[in-house]
Amino acid sequence: MEGLHGKPVRHLMKIWLDGTLSDIGALPISSMAHALHYGTGVFEGIRSYSAGPTECFVFRLKDHVTRLLRSADTLGLTLSFSLNALQMAVLDVLAVNALKDAYIRPLVFVGEGAMGLDIHSGPINRIHTLIAAWEWRSYFGIDGRGLSVKVGEWKRCFPKSGLNETKASGFYIDSFLAHLDAKRTGFDDAIMLDDNGSVAEATAANVFVVHDGRLLTPRTESALPGITRDTVIAIARELGVVVEEGEVCVEQMLEADEVFLTGTACEVAAVTKVNEAIVGTGHVGSLTETIAKSYQRIVRNRLPLRVRQDTNQWWTPTRVMARREFDSGIKYT
Ligand code: PMP
Repeated sequence: MEGLHGKPVRHLMKIWLDGTLSDIGALPISSMAHALHYGTGVFEGIRSYSAGPTECFVFRLKDHVTRLLRSADTLGLTLSFSLNALQMAVLDVLAVNALKDAYIRPLVFVGEGAMGLDIHSGPINRIHTLIAAWEWRSYFGIDGRGLSVKVGEWKRCFPKSGLNETKASGFYIDSFLAHLDAKRTGFDDAIMLDDNGSVAEATAANVFVVHDGRLLTPRTESALPGITRDTVIAIARELGVVVEEGEVCVEQMLEADEVFLTGTACEVAAVTKVNEAIVGTGHVGSLTETIAKSYQRIVRNRLPLRVRQDTNQWWTPTRVMARREFDSGIKYT
């Protein structure tokens, strides 16, 4: 099995499925799982960070699991695990795989049963919950250089309000195609537009634009309200930077002093080229760099945020230990 950029996912050894930890090759998942055919699943992307030899934290674990449960609820999927049990399960996956700096992928999906779209009046489809984790250092794999993005024709339109808050597997076909088109034409990623032709978000990240020292970001009607976006807004306010959430048009992006993307996987990633236009000086901008550095300290619980009162639950200590010593004994229901 390979991870991103062709590198093997060496640590992806044990996966948590419905309360049991199994070797990746021994998972009892049917090829007739509904989600495989229709994309009926919801997922999360979470990161853990080591903060020195003895400390390791999962960043904003509760917020991610809460969003997972909300996404599942939007699709009418009922899980047999509580918010607390899922948080414990994440810690178990990290421990059993001896992972510290990890990317964690919970996935709730519709299993085998009815094969049509109606899963409520025929055979029962089991709702599965899976948690995997692996080392995934750099999402874009670009080693510190700025990203080039293509503002293509791809739109991020949610036909029903509230759906933008759902991380549903099926939504990612648009992102996949927009990203594919960007890569095929020599860019690192694509910017997707909203219904009015304004900037919505990147294929798996939110977008920020710097103009005259102010930070602009699109509202979230046509974008996922990213947890990193929220963290970055808090960091910027802490730095005394004015943050405006509103319409961001393509011209503002082309003429911006700085542009960056935010997401759990890509963290804070500078954009130095939009279509054929060079952004600012063509190098990582100073505000982007300051925010990216602060972000790296915050995720490791090294920088208190004074302006926000609700951050005390952002860091969940892990109990990573050697795999052979692992025996959680935890009951998940
Ligand atoms: N938009 C999309 C479409 C995404 O997939 C992601 C990644 N989850 C984001 C934005 C950023 O969200 P977060 O900061 O919560 O990871």
